Amino acid sequence: LKRYVMTGLLTEHAMEVVMTKAPPLTVSAESSVVVVKNLYISCDPYMRNQMIRHDTPSSIAPDFIPGEVLTSCGVMKVLSSGHPDLKAGDLVWGVTGWEEYTVINSPESLSKINHPELPLSYYAGVMGIHGLTAYAGFFEVSKPKKGEYVFVSAACGAVGQIVGQLAKITGCYVVGSVGSDEKVNLLKHKFGFNDAFNYKKELDFEAALKRCFPQGIDIYFENVGGATLDAVLPNMRLGGRITVCGMISQYNLEHPERVQNLFYIITKRLRIEGFLSFDYNCRYRQFEREMAEYLREEKVIYVEDIAEGLDAAPAALVGLFSGRNIGKQLIAIAQE
Ligand code: NDP
Repeated sequence: LKRYVMTGLLTEHAMEVVMTKAPPLTVSAESSVVVVKNLYISCDPYMRNQMIRHDTPSSIAPDFIPGEVLTSCGVMKVLSSGHPDLKAGDLVWGVTGWEEYTVINSPESLSKINHPELPLSYYAGVMGIHGLTAYAGFFEVSKPKKGEYVFVSAACGAVGQIVGQLAKITGCYVVGSVGSDEKVNLLKHKFGFNDAFNYKKELDFEAALKRCFPQGIDIYFENVGGATLDAVLPNMRLGGRITVCGMISQYNLEHPERVQNLFYIITKRLRIEGFLSFDYNCRYRQFEREMAEYLREEKVIYVEDIAEGLDAAPAALVGLFSGRNIGKQLIAIAQE
C-alpha cells in the first residue's frame, strides 16, 4: 500500500509492486516462525476498508500500514519451520503476505490442506473463508427452510455463488442479481439458480424483484447494501430474514447511502442480522467435510477467476469494485 485511501474508488495507484530482498528461507528448529512460499492469494472487498486510517481500529481486520505488504488469505507451501506441527513441504492455508515468500510469525494460525484431491486454490476460497462465510451465513444466520424464496446479491462472486447453490441444495427457490449478462448466464446454467437478472440493465431494481418474486422474498443474503437493500425491503415477506454479509456498494463512499425503506422492518416484522465468518470458526471442520463432498459430487460447482502473478494483483483487487471478476478472484503467485 502506497498511502491511505480515504474515500473514492480504489485505483491501482494506491498500490505498488516492488522488488526487495527475500527473507532468509531457512529458520532454525529453535525458532518459532515458519517461512512459506505463497502459491495463491485471495482478493477481498474488505481489504478496501483496511486501506482507510481509522480513528478506532477496524473491527474486521487491522488497518494496512502504508509502505507495508498487503495481507489476505492464501495457500502456501512451507519451506522451513520452527513449529513442531509443520515441516518443509507441508501445504497450508491462512493469512499471508502479497509477496513471493512470507515469514509467518504465528504459525498456529495456519491450517493444513486436508483435501489434496481438490484443487489447491480452493483453500483460498470455497474451502476457506469464503465457503465458510456462505455456509455459516446461510445455514446459521438465515436458517433456511425447504421451499423458501431466497434472493442473493453479488451472486456470481466468491460468497454469492456458494450461497445460491446451498439454497438450491436446501430446496429453496433462488434468484441472484449480478452486473453482466455473462454472469446471469452462469447463474442460470452453471450454478442452477432458478432465475437471475443483470441489475445494470434493469431500469427499476424493485420492479425486477417483483417480477422474480411475485410472492415476496423470505431470505435476502445481503452482499451489496445501499440502493439494493432499499429495493429489497418492500419485497420482503412477512417475517422475512435479511442476512447481512457485506455491503460492497458502500466501501468506496465517504458517507454511506441513506436507506429509505427501513420502516418495512416493522410492518413486515423482519429480522436483520449481520455476521462475520470468524464467529463460526468452530464450525470449520464440519463445513470442510460437507463442502469437500459437495464439490466432489459436483453438487456445488465453483468458478474462479485467477490472475497470474503479483504484477496483476492491484488490478485484480480494484476489479472487484467494478465487477470485473467472474467468480472468486485469486492471484496465482507460484507453482507448488
Ligand atoms: P465477490 O467475489 O462477490 O466480488 C465482488 C462483487 O461485488 C463484484 O464482482 C461485483 O459483481 C459486485 N459489486 C461490486 N461493486 C458493486 C456495487 N457498487 N453494486 C453492486 N454490486 C457490486 O466478493 P466476495 O464474495 O468476496 O464478497 C461478497 C461480499 O461479502 C462483500 O460485501 C464482502 O465484503 C462480504 N464478505 C463478508 C464476510 C463476512 O465475514 N461477513 C467474509 C467475506 C466477504 P457484479 O458484477 O455482480 O456487480
